[in-house]
Amino acid sequence: MTQQQQPPSSNQPLPPVRPTSFPPQHQDRQPGLQAVMNPIPQSDSPVYRPAGKLEGKVALISGGDSGIGRAISIIYAKEGADVAIIYLNEDEDAQETKRLVEEKGRRCITIAGDVGDPAFCLKAVVQTVKQLSKLDILVNNAAEQHPQKTIEQITPAQLERTFKTNIFGIFYLTQAAMPHLHKGAAIINTASVTAYRGSPNLLDYSATKGAVVSFTRSLSMNLADKGIRVNAVAPGPVWTPLIPSTSDAPQVTTFGSDVPLKRCGQPDEMAPAYVYLATEDSSYMNGQVLHINGGEIING
Ligand code: NAD
Repeated sequence: MTQQQQPPSSNQPLPPVRPTSFPPQHQDRQPGLQAVMNPIPQSDSPVYRPAGKLEGKVALISGGDSGIGRAISIIYAKEGADVAIIYLNEDEDAQETKRLVEEKGRRCITIAGDVGDPAFCLKAVVQTVKQLSKLDILVNNAAEQHPQKTIEQITPAQLERTFKTNIFGIFYLTQAAMPHLHKGAAIINTASVTAYRGSPNLLDYSATKGAVVSFTRSLSMNLADKGIRVNAVAPGPVWTPLIPSTSDAPQVTTFGSDVPLKRCGQPDEMAPAYVYLATEDSSYMNGQVLHINGGEIING
């Protein structure tokens, strides 16, 4: 038997068991809180093997306190990066993410504020560079959604707020980051499967995610000469605070069961793609979207 064929040693961690159904639950606030979810989303896969791929790098991650953003923060720290996280107001979740990043031996700063405000985005970037010395990776991941049954139910205020957070915020944060991004830097945006297959109750949200895809493609071309690559991830259903805060309690129980893998994803199943897109491993990939959605074949 060659070395590669050795059976796994007995102390190799087992893959986590992935939940396929959930107790009914609803949170009367958005953004929701990870701390009160049942079960707590899986953010740190025991089977992931870090390889120092982000040693010495600095990443700024919007929506980094919970859900997919927390899993990105943790995996980046495991790969050797210091991390700044932006979040709206969920201080408890942000402090827990900071603790988890620091537990991996990396620095973490937490920055509360609204990405829909260009002055805040500038302040967040300046604070990151001041406290962590530089910026190599920008992850535009913050978003909100407000399901409505009909288009008439979407108020001008909701429409404006959703676009402000989900797409204006990406423009503002990227504009603020540009002076600090250099050759070899990476920008990674979180899109959604809803950009590709639509979503009847998320008209405004899915439209912003379509904008994220088009923005990713256009910016990748715009920045190619500078050696800055821009890509995106389009998650399918993922167990995060966004779900109990935007679904009725009974709806949550079967969340994600309608995809081919018959379950929703967990944040730690999204995170490795954000490592790949941040490193030289993806050096020939630009303007593309990785689809991590439980097997749904979509046209894109
Ligand atoms: P989450 O609730 O954990 O994260 C959303 C984050 O956005 C929170 O950290 C919140 O603080 C931040 N945020 C919201 N409004 C903000 C504002 N105005 N300013 C600053 N920060 C703000 O949920 P998540 O599911 O991890 O969401 C992360 C990304 O994944 C989002 O872009 C979401 O659209 C996308 N996504 C999620 C799913 C899913 O099923 N969970 C599916 C497809 C795409």
